Order: sequence, then structure tokens, then C-alpha cells
Amino acid sequence: MKIVLSLLILFQSLQSYSQIVYGSNKYIEYHIGNLPVIISVPHGGNITPSSIPDRTCNDAVTATDANTIELAKEIDRAFAKATGCNPHIIYCNLKRSKLDCNRNLADGGCGNAIAETAWNEFYNFINTAQASAQSKFGGKAFYIDLHGHGNPIQRLELGYLLYDYELANTDVMLNTSQYVGNSSIRNLVSTNISGSSHADLLRGNFALGTLLGNAGFPTVPSKQIPFPQTSENYFSGGYNTARHTSYTQTNTVNGLQIECNYINIRDSDTNRKQFADSLVSIVKKYLKIHQDINFPNCVVTSIAKTKETNTVIVSPNPATDFIQLTFTENAKDFDVEIITLFGQTVLTARNEGSLNIQQLPKGVYLLKITVDQTNIMWYKIVLR
Ligand SMILES: [Zn+2]
Repeated sequence: MKIVLSLLILFQSLQSYSQIVYGSNKYIEYHIGNLPVIISVPHGGNITPSSIPDRTCNDAVTATDANTIELAKEIDRAFAKATGCNPHIIYCNLKRSKLDCNRNLADGGCGNAIAETAWNEFYNFINTAQASAQSKFGGKAFYIDLHGHGNPIQRLELGYLLYDYELANTDVMLNTSQYVGNSSIRNLVSTNISGSSHADLLRGNFALGTLLGNAGFPTVPSKQIPFPQTSENYFSGGYNTARHTSYTQTNTVNGLQIECNYINIRDSDTNRKQFADSLVSIVKKYLKIHQDINFPNCVVTSIAKTKETNTVIVSPNPATDFIQLTFTENAKDFDVEIITLFGQTVLTARNEGSLNIQQLPKGVYLLKITVDQTNIMWYKIVLR
């Protein structure tokens, strides 16, 4: 078994934080959250390694969604400000000309092995985040695939996988099983506690689009703008929305694609902050009304910051199935835990210099070391 180890986060001091797990070469980032919200950001990256050729397969679209990573970071900050907790966020740092994380593997990676590895990491991190949020919040996780559009009409476009001409139907038609069954909030139609129909959830008084419109962000579909005109190049949702929501019969996560306009939302730091704060309070309200989710208030505990020197050195020993821990300071106790990405502790040890990992299945784990019950260090370990 080969062990690959990388340092995750060193000492934490007294603030809310989310742990970050990186994919290969840091092309993909998973910010592990503790809220029932999962956000993916597939088109905001700008890394262009020469090891991945520019995508040309199958009429590749390569436009970047400008400032969507910056916007997601503001949304992360806004959630932390409102709750002390963080959403799960998965970022693709590769430029879309190298990898499209909102296409299937063949079209997204165009056959390049490095791009395909990153594609798989992005896909699997979303699954991991959803499984973790589903188990913690009783199956009520909510997913947002975050984008930016270049359409001239400055409004948010919410994609529930229903085309413009489908949204133009009557409420009665949209409430038939034919349309509900093809919606990214299929499961919410049957589980919501607000008595809302599918059409209500798309464009009723408490639809996400209506709440955003009321807050000063014009949105389609909504009560204010029930459906787009067919000439308006509206985005109805893409690969991620289909694969990671209840549109897929085996998934119960509800969600949607949010295509953000540029002016007033993505164009400046101030506007990104303002929109992020509004979006967070609206998502909280929306999930309270329809799913009775009370967002937790994460307690921010004070952890004394230690000296910058390492108190422990972790080194993989490729010759054996052990991880060596070398303690270099006179701390009394080192509590060690190996945790799966689903939050399950699979190994614990105290004051031991060598961890036997023979019995652990291959995969990605988090190694948590607590020094004298106060200072926590996180590492990522990959067992191959
Ligand atoms: Zn996009």
C-alpha cells in the first residue's frame, strides 16, 4: 500500500473555518462544510497547465464564468457570518479551456488523463459532500451549481432542468408527473412541508426566484418573471444539475443551477458581498419554509494558537503499512484519529508513534492530531 500525505491545515486560531481537501495538483478543491448546503463552482477556474491540451472535442464551449470563484468565497463568508458554519463548496480551478466540470467525462476531459482525474475528483467530492450533508440533516441537503451567464438581460436564471418553452406551460401542466419527474426539485415536491406544488416552488410566493426578486435581484422563473421567452437563450441547467439532484431517480438531494448575471452581482467586490449576504438569508428562509431546516449555530471555540514550530512530524513509510509520527515537543498527549470523508472515525490512538493502517481500505482520509486536548492539526492522507 502506497501512502501519499500532504499537509492540510496547520494550527487553527479561534475562527470558523472549513477544512480543505485538494485533488491532484490542487486542480480541484473541496471545502468541507457543516451546513445542509452544497455548492459547486465548475467554470470559474483560470489555471492552464501545458500538460493538458486545450479542449477541442465535440464543439467544446470554453468561456469562463468570470468571478464565480470569488462569488462563492463571499457566499462561504456570508454563511459563516450568519451561522458560524460553512457550506460544502467544490471548486474547479482549471480553466474551462482545459476541463469542463459541467459536462460528462468524455466531453469535459476530451480524453486527457490528467483532466479526467480532476473531473473524477470534482464529481466524487460533490458525492462525498452530499452524503455527509444528507446524513447530518436527515436527507434535506440542498445543492447549488453556481455559474455566470453572458446573456444581455441582467437577471438571475434558475435552472430546474425545465426548458423555456416548458416553463411557459400553465401551473396545472407543470404540476403533472411528466414535469415533476423531470425536475431537479422532484423530491421537494413530495416532501415539502409548506404544501407547495411544483409550480409554487418554481414561481409561487415562496419560490427561490420570487424571494430573490423581492430582495432586488430580478430572477427567472419567479412570480415576477414566470418564464423566459424562447428567444432569450435561457439556461435551464446542465450536467451537474442532472447528476447531483433528485432529477436522478436514485438521488434525493434537491437543487438547481444558478446562472448569475454580471452587473450588480459578479462585477465588484461590494456587489458580490451584497448579493452573497442576500442569497444566504434567502436560502435559509427558503429551506426553513419548505423543509423546516433550522440552520445550526456553530459554536466558535477559542483555541490557543501554538508556536509556529511543528509539534509533530508525520511521515509515510512506504516500506510498511504504518504511518510514522515523530513528536518533537514536550507535549503530554497526542490524540490521533483517522477519519473518512464521511466523518466516520476508523482509527484512534494516543501517544503512539506509529499507526497501523493495514486494515484500512484504499482511499482519502483525514488525519486529526490533537495535542494536549487543545491544538488540532489536520492532514490529508491518501492510501493507494
Ligand atoms: Zn457556467
